[in-house]
Amino acid sequence: MPKAKETVLEIDLGALAQNFNYLKSKLKTDTKVLAVIKAFAYGSDSVEIAKQLQHLKVNYFAVAYTHEGVVLRNAGITTPILVLHPQTTNFDTIIDRCLEPSLYSTKILNEFIQVAEKKNQSAYPVHIKFNTGLNRLGFWQNEVDDVVSKLKTSKSVIAKTIFSHLAASEAINEKKFTTQQINCFKAIAKEFETKIGYKPWLHLCNTSGVINYPEAHFDMVRCGIGLYGFGNSAQEDKNLKPIATLKSIISQIHNVDKNETVGYNRAFKANSLVKTATIPIGHADGITRIYGNEKGFVYINDKKAPIIGNVCMDMIMVNVTGIDCKEGDEVIIFNTKYNASQLAESANTISYEIITSISQRVRRLFIK
Ligand SMILES: *Cc1c(COP(=O)(O)O)cnc(C)c1O
Repeated sequence: MPKAKETVLEIDLGALAQNFNYLKSKLKTDTKVLAVIKAFAYGSDSVEIAKQLQHLKVNYFAVAYTHEGVVLRNAGITTPILVLHPQTTNFDTIIDRCLEPSLYSTKILNEFIQVAEKKNQSAYPVHIKFNTGLNRLGFWQNEVDDVVSKLKTSKSVIAKTIFSHLAASEAINEKKFTTQQINCFKAIAKEFETKIGYKPWLHLCNTSGVINYPEAHFDMVRCGIGLYGFGNSAQEDKNLKPIATLKSIISQIHNVDKNETVGYNRAFKANSLVKTATIPIGHADGITRIYGNEKGFVYINDKKAPIIGNVCMDMIMVNVTGIDCKEGDEVIIFNTKYNASQLAESANTISYEIITSISQRVRRLFIK
């Protein structure tokens, strides 16, 4: 791979294919895969990731917000796209751009049917979301009857799938709770199918659900983080490959004398002569101030260099005392060897947050 000459996020589309195939190897051959590509495909690039996954014949995509789906349609993506968290103001666009809404409340369901009727739709595919314990979005189990009655009153929509979301699929100590969620979902699905008279596809599992609950894969699974190379456990991290490498370069080296300070508000004070490197990446790029003051770190020539002082908008300073390095040398913030989840843990957060935070200012480079 080329050495970085500025800050770049390299995205390995081969690793994406590997992760996709690994997750598929956990499924029965006829179980469908929905790839979750919300938030710029977890901070990478939704269009390039969608193109690669469409090429790999993924069955479905999901985004969180309507506009994320519009971007994919504008780029020529033709695979069905589920919008997980639409608002009523989006419903015209959803139909115009062939997106498929998650309908999670009576208000949302009624309003979508109204818009679908107004636009003379018939059997427009929608996805009915049930709450089985996450308590975030979804109809309750005791609303099945109402939902089915409402759906039966209109030919404008059809329940293509019914789904729910697990609250703690990665937490082995919550196995009992997760099993309850699975059973609750099964009961909902059974009642729904009986009352509506057809069989929508069922889906429940995210990445950790795929790995930990093979009995709950149903007709389709929804994979996000696993595609990007994180398995929510040390064991599964070994089977997956992070697709993103965040690299930069040393802009300048300083030798800072004892009692001098570094950065805004003089947050770092040198106890002795310190060699520092200034790197062109800051909180506007997604390295938030939480990583400052020696919480976070980067790697230079395979040596760990802590971030000193406060993170600036467009740069960080790191301590490179004792590290053989010079201006122009490559800096690794994370890659396959120096995993982003380790950096995330240094700031008490998770891989999901650090990778989705890398801002669109950082240039994306795709490796086929
Ligand atoms: C984000 C999301 C997913 C993907 O979860 P991962 O843990 O990243 O695999 C699946 N389903 C829903 C409803 C989501 O919001």
